[in-house]
Amino acid sequence: MDVWNDISKKISDAVDYTAKETGKLTGIAKIKYKVVNLRSKRSGLYEEIGKLRYEELRSVPTDDGVIDNTIEITALCDAITAINADINAASEELAKLRKFKHCVSCGIRIRPGMSFCPKCGTKQA
Ligand SMILES: [Zn+2]
Repeated sequence: MDVWNDISKKISDAVDYTAKETGKLTGIAKIKYKVVNLRSKRSGLYEEIGKLRYEELRSVPTDDGVIDNTIEITALCDAITAINADINAASEELAKLRKFKHCVSCGIRIRPGMSFCPKCGTKQA
């Protein structure tokens, strides 16, 4: 391989790497954003449960009976359980995206998806 071919290859690898990294960072940012939204949504649900329970505890019994928000609170609890599952799934996805691997030759830490080691240039398996 002549020098120019070698450089072209390095450039195309770098561009490929940059594109992959940008895609990945976008992915991580997207997932982080999703988790923030889910947590905020969950806080709202917790607050709603608190209000409903407060109404129950502070209600004065009338001829119609007492306030019973059990059905509403149960539905909100189910929604929180579903959100928790979504947050866990997103966290696992984040952990996977953040995982590093090591160069097969020199052993430095490199990002997954890299074809060549940036330090020693060895092609990765
Ligand atoms: Zn290396």
